Amino acid sequence: MNIETKGLHEGWKPSRGEPRQLPIYQSTTFKYDTSDEMGALFDLEASGYFYTRLQNPTNDCVAAKICEMEGGVAAMLTSSGQAANFYAIFNICESGDHFIASSAIYGGTYNLFGVTMKKMGIECTFVDQTLPEEELAKYFKPNTKAVFGETITNPTVTIIDFEKFARLAHSHGVPFIVDNTFATPANCRPFEWGADIVTHSTTKYMDGHAVGVDGCIVDSGNFDWMAHAEKFPGLTTPDDSYHGITYAKKFGKGAYITKATVQLMRDLGSIQSPQNAFYLNLGLETLSLRMEKHCSNALAVAKYLNSHDKVAWVHYASLEGDEYYDLAQKYLPNGTCGVLAFGVKGDRATANRFMDSLKLASIVTHVADSKSCLLHPASHTHRQLTEEQLIEAGISPDLIRLSVGLENIDDIIADLEQALAQA
Ligand SMILES: *Cc1c(COP(=O)(O)O)cnc(C)c1O
Repeated sequence: MNIETKGLHEGWKPSRGEPRQLPIYQSTTFKYDTSDEMGALFDLEASGYFYTRLQNPTNDCVAAKICEMEGGVAAMLTSSGQAANFYAIFNICESGDHFIASSAIYGGTYNLFGVTMKKMGIECTFVDQTLPEEELAKYFKPNTKAVFGETITNPTVTIIDFEKFARLAHSHGVPFIVDNTFATPANCRPFEWGADIVTHSTTKYMDGHAVGVDGCIVDSGNFDWMAHAEKFPGLTTPDDSYHGITYAKKFGKGAYITKATVQLMRDLGSIQSPQNAFYLNLGLETLSLRMEKHCSNALAVAKYLNSHDKVAWVHYASLEGDEYYDLAQKYLPNGTCGVLAFGVKGDRATANRFMDSLKLASIVTHVADSKSCLLHPASHTHRQLTEEQLIEAGISPDLIRLSVGLENIDDIIADLEQALAQA
Protein backbone atom coordinates (compact mmCIF):
# COMPACT_ATOMS: atom_id res chain seq x y z
CA MET A 1 0.00 0.00 0.00
CA ASN A 2 1.08 3.59 -0.58
CA ILE A 3 1.15 6.11 2.22
CA GLU A 4 -2.35 7.59 1.55
CA THR A 5 -3.87 4.11 1.60
CA LYS A 6 -1.95 3.09 4.72
CA GLY A 7 -3.29 6.18 6.50
CA LEU A 8 -6.81 4.90 5.85
CA HIS A 9 -6.44 1.14 6.10
CA GLU A 10 -3.56 0.17 8.40
CA GLY A 11 -4.07 -0.40 12.10
CA TRP A 12 -7.69 -1.32 12.68
CA LYS A 13 -8.75 -4.07 10.28
CA PRO A 14 -12.30 -5.13 11.12
CA SER A 15 -13.61 -8.56 10.31
CA ARG A 16 -17.19 -9.48 9.53
CA GLY A 17 -19.73 -7.56 11.57
CA GLU A 18 -17.19 -5.45 13.42
CA PRO A 19 -17.32 -1.63 13.49
CA ARG A 20 -15.91 0.02 10.36
CA GLN A 21 -14.24 2.75 12.40
CA LEU A 22 -11.66 2.07 15.13
CA PRO A 23 -13.49 1.53 18.44
CA ILE A 24 -12.38 3.39 21.57
CA TYR A 25 -11.54 0.82 24.22
CA GLN A 26 -12.14 3.17 27.11
CA SER A 27 -11.16 0.64 29.73
CA THR A 28 -8.36 0.65 32.25
CA THR A 29 -8.24 -3.10 32.54
CA PHE A 30 -8.94 -6.42 30.82
CA LYS A 31 -10.51 -9.60 32.16
CA TYR A 32 -9.00 -13.12 32.37
CA ASP A 33 -10.41 -16.47 33.43
CA THR A 34 -7.57 -17.81 35.53
CA SER A 35 -4.95 -16.43 37.83
CA ASP A 36 -2.20 -18.27 35.93
CA GLU A 37 -3.21 -16.67 32.63
CA MET A 38 -2.80 -13.23 34.15
CA GLY A 39 0.50 -14.21 35.80
CA ALA A 40 1.96 -15.21 32.43
CA LEU A 41 1.14 -11.74 31.11
CA PHE A 42 3.00 -10.08 33.96
CA ASP A 43 6.02 -12.27 33.25
CA LEU A 44 5.91 -11.30 29.54
CA GLU A 45 5.56 -15.02 28.80
CA ALA A 46 2.24 -14.50 27.04
CA SER A 47 0.99 -11.47 25.13
CA GLY A 48 -2.33 -9.85 25.87
CA TYR A 49 -3.88 -6.78 27.37
CA PHE A 50 -4.09 -6.36 31.10
CA TYR A 51 -3.74 -2.72 32.01
CA THR A 52 -3.98 0.37 29.77
CA ARG A 53 -0.81 1.93 31.19
CA LEU A 54 1.05 -0.82 29.29
CA GLN A 55 -1.16 -1.53 26.34
CA ASN A 56 -4.61 -0.75 25.01
CA PRO A 57 -6.22 -2.08 21.81
CA THR A 58 -7.19 1.37 20.48
CA ASN A 59 -3.70 2.71 21.09
CA ASP A 60 -2.08 -0.37 19.59
CA CYS A 61 -4.03 0.00 16.34
CA VAL A 62 -2.97 3.61 16.00
CA ALA A 63 0.66 2.78 16.85
CA ALA A 64 0.54 0.01 14.22
CA LYS A 65 -0.76 2.45 11.62
CA ILE A 66 2.01 4.97 12.31
CA CYS A 67 4.53 2.13 12.30
CA GLU A 68 3.39 1.09 8.82
CA MET A 69 3.38 4.65 7.56
CA GLU A 70 6.99 5.11 8.72
CA GLY A 71 8.04 1.66 7.52
CA GLY A 72 9.14 0.47 10.97
CA VAL A 73 8.82 -2.80 12.88
CA ALA A 74 7.30 -1.61 16.17
CA ALA A 75 5.82 1.55 17.65
CA MET A 76 4.30 2.92 20.83
CA LEU A 77 2.13 5.91 21.63
CA THR A 78 3.01 8.40 24.35
CA SER A 79 1.15 11.19 26.10
CA SER A 80 3.11 13.94 24.30
CA GLY A 81 5.98 14.61 21.95
CA GLN A 82 8.05 15.52 25.01
CA ALA A 83 7.42 12.08 26.50
CA ALA A 84 8.31 10.45 23.17
CA ASN A 85 11.68 12.20 22.96
CA PHE A 86 12.44 11.59 26.62
CA TYR A 87 11.65 7.87 26.37
CA ALA A 88 13.51 7.53 23.08
CA ILE A 89 16.73 8.68 24.75
CA PHE A 90 16.17 7.36 28.26
CA ASN A 91 15.51 3.88 26.87
CA ILE A 92 19.21 3.63 25.94
CA CYS A 93 20.95 6.25 28.11
CA GLU A 94 21.41 6.19 31.85
CA SER A 95 23.27 8.27 34.39
CA GLY A 96 26.87 8.70 33.22
CA ASP A 97 25.98 8.45 29.52
CA HIS A 98 26.26 11.08 26.83
CA PHE A 99 24.47 11.80 23.56
CA ILE A 100 24.69 14.32 20.74
CA ALA A 101 21.85 16.49 19.49
CA SER A 102 21.52 19.16 16.85
CA SER A 103 21.38 22.61 18.48
CA ALA A 104 18.58 23.61 16.09
CA ILE A 105 15.95 21.34 17.67
CA TYR A 106 12.63 22.41 19.19
CA GLY A 107 12.97 24.57 22.32
CA GLY A 108 11.12 22.13 24.56
CA THR A 109 13.41 19.29 23.53
CA TYR A 110 16.44 21.54 24.00
CA ASN A 111 15.38 22.19 27.62
CA LEU A 112 14.60 18.52 28.23
CA PHE A 113 18.01 17.41 26.96
CA GLY A 114 20.10 20.30 28.25
CA VAL A 115 18.52 20.95 31.65
CA THR A 116 16.26 18.17 32.93
CA MET A 117 18.17 15.16 31.65
CA LYS A 118 21.38 16.75 32.85
CA LYS A 119 19.93 16.58 36.37
CA MET A 120 19.51 12.86 35.79
CA GLY A 121 23.20 12.53 35.02
CA ILE A 122 22.78 12.28 31.24
CA GLU A 123 24.86 14.75 29.32
CA CYS A 124 23.90 16.16 25.92
CA THR A 125 26.27 18.00 23.60
CA PHE A 126 24.46 20.31 21.19
CA VAL A 127 26.15 20.61 17.82
CA ASP A 128 25.84 22.83 14.78
CA GLN A 129 24.27 20.38 12.34
CA THR A 130 25.79 22.14 9.34
CA LEU A 131 29.36 21.31 10.38
CA PRO A 132 31.29 18.91 8.15
CA GLU A 133 31.38 15.26 9.12
CA GLU A 134 34.97 15.27 10.42
CA GLU A 135 34.18 18.23 12.72
CA LEU A 136 31.06 16.53 14.09
CA ALA A 137 33.02 13.31 14.69
CA LYS A 138 35.07 15.15 17.33
CA TYR A 139 32.06 15.39 19.64
CA PHE A 140 31.80 11.63 20.14
CA LYS A 141 33.04 10.22 23.44
CA PRO A 142 33.43 6.65 24.67
CA ASN A 143 30.12 7.04 26.59
CA THR A 144 28.15 8.51 23.65
CA LYS A 145 24.98 6.45 23.14
CA ALA A 146 22.89 8.23 20.53
CA VAL A 147 22.65 11.01 17.96
CA PHE A 148 19.47 13.08 17.74
CA GLY A 149 18.09 15.55 15.19
CA GLU A 150 14.87 16.79 13.57
CA THR A 151 13.99 16.19 9.91
CA ILE A 152 12.80 19.80 9.68
CA THR A 153 13.84 21.89 12.66
CA ASN A 154 11.23 23.78 14.66
CA PRO A 155 11.15 26.81 14.36
CA THR A 156 14.04 27.51 11.96
CA VAL A 157 12.75 25.03 9.34
CA THR A 158 16.19 23.83 8.26
CA ILE A 159 16.69 20.30 6.91
CA ILE A 160 18.97 17.71 8.48
CA ASP A 161 21.45 15.89 6.27
CA PHE A 162 20.30 12.36 7.04
CA GLU A 163 23.09 10.52 5.29
CA LYS A 164 25.79 12.51 7.06
CA PHE A 165 24.28 11.95 10.51
CA ALA A 166 23.45 8.29 9.90
CA ARG A 167 27.04 7.63 8.81
CA LEU A 168 28.39 9.46 11.87
CA ALA A 169 26.14 7.61 14.30
CA HIS A 170 26.74 4.19 12.77
CA SER A 171 30.50 4.57 12.48
CA HIS A 172 30.47 5.21 16.25
CA GLY A 173 28.19 2.26 16.98
CA VAL A 174 25.16 4.26 18.12
CA PRO A 175 21.64 4.77 16.74
CA PHE A 176 20.45 7.87 14.91
CA ILE A 177 17.15 9.12 16.37
CA VAL A 178 15.04 11.53 14.32
CA ASP A 179 12.09 13.66 15.36
CA ASN A 180 9.98 13.58 12.20
CA THR A 181 7.18 15.82 13.50
CA PHE A 182 7.16 18.56 10.86
CA ALA A 183 7.73 16.38 7.80
CA THR A 184 5.46 13.46 8.81
CA PRO A 185 5.83 10.15 6.97
CA ALA A 186 3.74 11.66 4.17
CA ASN A 187 6.74 13.78 3.13
CA CYS A 188 9.76 11.93 4.54
CA ARG A 189 10.43 8.49 5.94
CA PRO A 190 13.73 8.80 7.82
CA PHE A 191 14.27 5.01 7.92
CA GLU A 192 14.80 5.13 4.15
CA TRP A 193 17.76 7.45 4.81
CA GLY A 194 19.45 5.54 7.63
CA ALA A 195 17.65 6.73 10.76
CA ASP A 196 17.12 3.97 13.33
CA ILE A 197 14.38 5.40 15.52
CA VAL A 198 11.75 8.02 14.74
CA THR A 199 9.78 10.13 17.21
CA HIS A 200 6.78 12.37 16.72
CA SER A 201 4.86 15.04 18.44
CA THR A 202 1.63 13.73 16.91
CA THR A 203 0.09 16.88 18.41
CA LYS A 204 1.05 18.59 15.16
CA TYR A 205 0.16 17.49 11.61
CA MET A 206 -0.67 13.89 12.47
CA ASP A 207 -3.59 14.95 14.65
CA GLY A 208 -3.77 18.02 12.45
CA HIS A 209 -6.75 19.71 14.08
CA ALA A 210 -5.24 20.88 17.37
CA VAL A 211 -7.40 18.59 19.52
CA GLY A 212 -4.91 16.37 21.35
CA VAL A 213 -1.42 16.59 22.80
CA ASP A 214 0.31 13.27 22.18
CA GLY A 215 3.31 11.54 20.65
CA CYS A 216 4.82 8.31 19.43
CA ILE A 217 8.07 6.40 18.92
CA VAL A 218 8.77 4.07 15.99
CA ASP A 219 11.67 1.65 15.70
CA SER A 220 13.08 0.61 12.32
CA GLY A 221 14.42 -2.60 13.86
CA ASN A 222 17.66 -1.94 11.97
CA PHE A 223 20.02 -1.13 14.83
CA ASP A 224 21.86 -4.22 16.04
CA TRP A 225 21.98 -3.80 19.84
CA MET A 226 23.81 -7.07 20.41
CA ALA A 227 26.60 -5.99 18.02
CA HIS A 228 27.28 -3.10 20.44
CA ALA A 229 26.22 -4.97 23.56
CA GLU A 230 28.66 -3.22 25.92
CA LYS A 231 27.16 0.19 25.07
CA PHE A 232 23.55 -0.78 25.70
CA PRO A 233 23.39 -2.97 28.81
CA GLY A 234 19.72 -2.05 29.35
CA LEU A 235 18.86 -4.01 26.21
CA THR A 236 21.58 -6.63 26.21
CA THR A 237 21.82 -7.76 29.84
CA PRO A 238 19.09 -9.26 32.06
CA ASP A 239 16.40 -6.95 33.50
CA ASP A 240 15.93 -7.84 37.18
CA SER A 241 12.50 -6.24 37.19
CA TYR A 242 11.35 -9.02 34.78
CA HIS A 243 13.02 -12.09 36.26
CA GLY A 244 16.14 -11.60 34.18
CA ILE A 245 14.71 -11.16 30.69
CA THR A 246 17.25 -9.82 28.15
CA TYR A 247 15.23 -7.71 25.74
CA ALA A 248 17.53 -7.94 22.70
CA LYS A 249 17.62 -11.74 23.01
CA LYS A 250 13.97 -12.39 23.78
CA PHE A 251 12.32 -9.80 21.52
CA GLY A 252 14.79 -9.41 18.63
CA LYS A 253 13.78 -6.49 16.42
CA GLY A 254 10.99 -5.63 18.85
CA ALA A 255 13.43 -5.20 21.76
CA TYR A 256 13.66 -1.42 21.86
CA ILE A 257 9.90 -0.74 21.84
CA THR A 258 9.19 -3.67 24.17
CA LYS A 259 11.66 -2.31 26.72
CA ALA A 260 10.27 1.23 26.39
CA THR A 261 6.77 -0.14 26.97
CA VAL A 262 7.18 -2.72 29.70
CA GLN A 263 9.88 -0.86 31.63
CA LEU A 264 9.66 2.90 30.98
CA MET A 265 5.92 3.14 30.42
CA ARG A 266 5.29 0.77 33.32
CA ASP A 267 7.35 2.96 35.65
CA LEU A 268 6.82 6.48 34.30
CA GLY A 269 3.31 6.12 32.91
CA SER A 270 3.14 8.77 30.17
CA ILE A 271 0.36 6.99 28.32
CA GLN A 272 -1.89 8.36 25.64
CA SER A 273 -5.58 8.13 26.41
CA PRO A 274 -7.54 5.86 24.06
CA GLN A 275 -9.84 8.80 23.35
CA ASN A 276 -6.88 10.85 22.09
CA ALA A 277 -5.62 7.89 20.07
CA PHE A 278 -9.03 7.82 18.37
CA TYR A 279 -8.72 11.49 17.40
CA LEU A 280 -5.16 10.90 16.24
CA ASN A 281 -6.40 8.07 14.03
CA LEU A 282 -8.91 10.39 12.37
CA GLY A 283 -6.08 12.81 11.66
CA LEU A 284 -3.92 10.06 10.17
CA GLU A 285 -6.71 9.11 7.74
CA THR A 286 -6.29 12.41 5.90
CA LEU A 287 -2.65 13.18 6.71
CA SER A 288 -1.27 12.83 3.18
CA LEU A 289 -4.09 14.84 1.66
CA ARG A 290 -3.66 17.62 4.20
CA MET A 291 0.13 17.70 3.88
CA GLU A 292 -0.17 18.30 0.13
CA LYS A 293 -2.38 21.31 0.74
CA HIS A 294 -0.28 22.64 3.65
CA CYS A 295 2.76 22.46 1.38
CA SER A 296 1.21 24.09 -1.68
CA ASN A 297 -0.27 26.89 0.47
CA ALA A 298 3.02 27.43 2.30
CA LEU A 299 5.01 27.58 -0.93
CA ALA A 300 2.63 30.20 -2.29
CA VAL A 301 2.95 32.21 0.94
CA ALA A 302 6.75 31.88 0.88
CA LYS A 303 6.85 33.22 -2.69
CA TYR A 304 4.52 36.05 -1.78
CA LEU A 305 6.52 37.09 1.32
CA ASN A 306 9.81 36.71 -0.52
CA SER A 307 8.80 39.36 -3.04
CA HIS A 308 7.24 41.76 -0.47
CA ASP A 309 9.33 44.85 0.19
CA LYS A 310 8.44 44.95 3.91
CA VAL A 311 9.78 41.44 4.46
CA ALA A 312 13.46 41.18 5.38
CA TRP A 313 13.96 37.47 4.74
CA VAL A 314 12.07 34.15 4.32
CA HIS A 315 13.18 30.63 5.21
CA TYR A 316 11.27 27.84 3.51
CA ALA A 317 13.29 24.92 2.25
CA SER A 318 10.93 24.15 -0.65
CA LEU A 319 11.44 27.68 -1.98
CA GLU A 320 13.97 27.83 -4.79
CA GLY A 321 17.05 29.73 -3.67
CA ASP A 322 16.64 28.76 0.00
CA GLU A 323 19.83 27.67 1.74
CA TYR A 324 18.27 24.24 2.37
CA TYR A 325 16.61 23.85 -1.03
CA ASP A 326 19.00 21.14 -2.23
CA LEU A 327 18.66 19.06 0.94
CA ALA A 328 14.88 19.46 0.73
CA GLN A 329 14.88 18.33 -2.91
CA LYS A 330 16.91 15.28 -1.95
CA TYR A 331 15.06 14.17 1.17
CA LEU A 332 11.61 15.77 0.80
CA PRO A 333 11.03 16.18 -2.94
CA ASN A 334 7.24 16.22 -2.61
CA GLY A 335 7.19 19.08 -0.12
CA THR A 336 8.50 19.92 3.33
CA CYS A 337 5.71 21.18 5.59
CA GLY A 338 3.35 24.10 6.07
CA VAL A 339 5.61 25.99 8.44
CA LEU A 340 7.89 28.78 7.35
CA ALA A 341 9.95 31.44 9.09
CA PHE A 342 10.43 35.05 8.11
CA GLY A 343 11.37 38.47 9.44
CA VAL A 344 9.57 41.77 8.93
CA LYS A 345 11.81 44.79 8.29
CA GLY A 346 11.97 47.09 11.29
CA ASP A 347 12.21 46.52 15.04
CA ARG A 348 10.33 44.31 17.46
CA ALA A 349 7.44 46.79 17.62
CA THR A 350 6.99 46.49 13.84
CA ALA A 351 6.81 42.72 14.13
CA ASN A 352 4.28 43.02 16.94
CA ARG A 353 2.15 45.48 14.95
CA PHE A 354 2.15 43.06 12.03
CA MET A 355 1.19 40.11 14.19
CA ASP A 356 -1.50 42.00 16.09
CA SER A 357 -3.04 43.18 12.80
CA LEU A 358 -3.70 39.69 11.44
CA LYS A 359 -7.36 38.77 11.34
CA LEU A 360 -7.34 35.22 9.96
CA ALA A 361 -4.05 33.79 11.24
CA SER A 362 -4.08 33.72 15.02
CA ILE A 363 -1.32 34.06 17.59
CA VAL A 364 -1.12 30.69 19.32
CA THR A 365 1.63 28.52 20.81
CA HIS A 366 0.57 25.66 18.61
CA VAL A 367 1.84 24.96 15.13
CA ALA A 368 1.07 22.63 12.26
CA ASP A 369 -2.68 22.29 12.30
CA SER A 370 -5.50 23.08 9.91
CA LYS A 371 -5.86 26.77 10.79
CA SER A 372 -3.14 29.32 10.00
CA CYS A 373 -1.32 30.53 13.07
CA LEU A 374 1.91 32.15 14.08
CA LEU A 375 4.17 33.07 16.94
CA HIS A 376 7.35 34.91 17.74
CA PRO A 377 9.71 32.32 19.29
CA ALA A 378 12.00 34.82 21.02
CA SER A 379 8.97 36.17 22.95
CA HIS A 380 7.06 32.90 23.27
CA THR A 381 8.32 29.29 22.92
CA HIS A 382 12.01 30.12 23.33
CA ARG A 383 11.59 32.70 26.08
CA GLN A 384 13.64 30.56 28.47
CA LEU A 385 16.69 30.53 26.21
CA THR A 386 19.43 33.11 26.66
CA GLU A 387 20.33 35.43 23.78
CA GLU A 388 23.37 33.22 23.21
CA GLN A 389 21.33 30.01 23.10
CA LEU A 390 18.87 31.68 20.70
CA ILE A 391 21.67 32.48 18.29
CA GLU A 392 23.11 28.98 18.72
CA ALA A 393 19.68 27.60 17.82
CA GLY A 394 19.65 29.84 14.74
CA ILE A 395 16.73 31.94 15.97
CA SER A 396 17.11 35.61 15.14
CA PRO A 397 15.16 37.99 17.39
CA ASP A 398 12.89 39.01 14.48
CA LEU A 399 12.00 35.43 13.46
CA ILE A 400 8.26 34.90 13.06
CA ARG A 401 7.11 31.31 12.70
CA LEU A 402 4.09 31.10 10.42
CA SER A 403 2.15 27.86 10.21
CA VAL A 404 0.16 27.97 7.01
CA GLY A 405 -3.21 26.26 7.31
CA LEU A 406 -5.71 24.77 4.92
CA GLU A 407 -7.70 27.93 4.23
CA ASN A 408 -8.08 29.18 0.66
CA ILE A 409 -4.72 30.63 -0.35
CA ASP A 410 -6.27 33.93 -1.50
CA ASP A 411 -7.72 34.50 1.98
CA ILE A 412 -4.39 33.72 3.67
CA ILE A 413 -2.48 36.12 1.43
CA ALA A 414 -5.12 38.86 1.74
CA ASP A 415 -4.75 38.65 5.53
CA LEU A 416 -0.95 38.90 5.35
CA GLU A 417 -1.26 41.76 2.88
CA GLN A 418 -3.44 43.93 5.11
CA ALA A 419 -1.32 43.19 8.21
CA LEU A 420 1.93 44.02 6.41
CA ALA A 421 0.35 47.26 5.22
CA GLN A 422 -0.31 48.19 8.85
CA ALA A 423 3.17 47.21 10.00
C1 LIG B 1 5.86 20.27 19.55
C2 LIG B 1 7.08 19.52 19.32
C3 LIG B 1 7.59 18.65 20.30
C4 LIG B 1 6.94 18.48 21.65
O1 LIG B 1 5.71 17.86 21.48
P1 LIG B 1 4.46 18.00 22.49
O2 LIG B 1 3.45 17.13 21.85
O3 LIG B 1 4.09 19.45 22.53
O4 LIG B 1 4.92 17.50 23.81
C5 LIG B 1 8.73 17.93 20.00
N1 LIG B 1 9.36 18.07 18.83
C6 LIG B 1 8.90 18.91 17.87
C7 LIG B 1 9.65 19.02 16.57
C8 LIG B 1 7.76 19.66 18.08
O5 LIG B 1 7.32 20.49 17.13
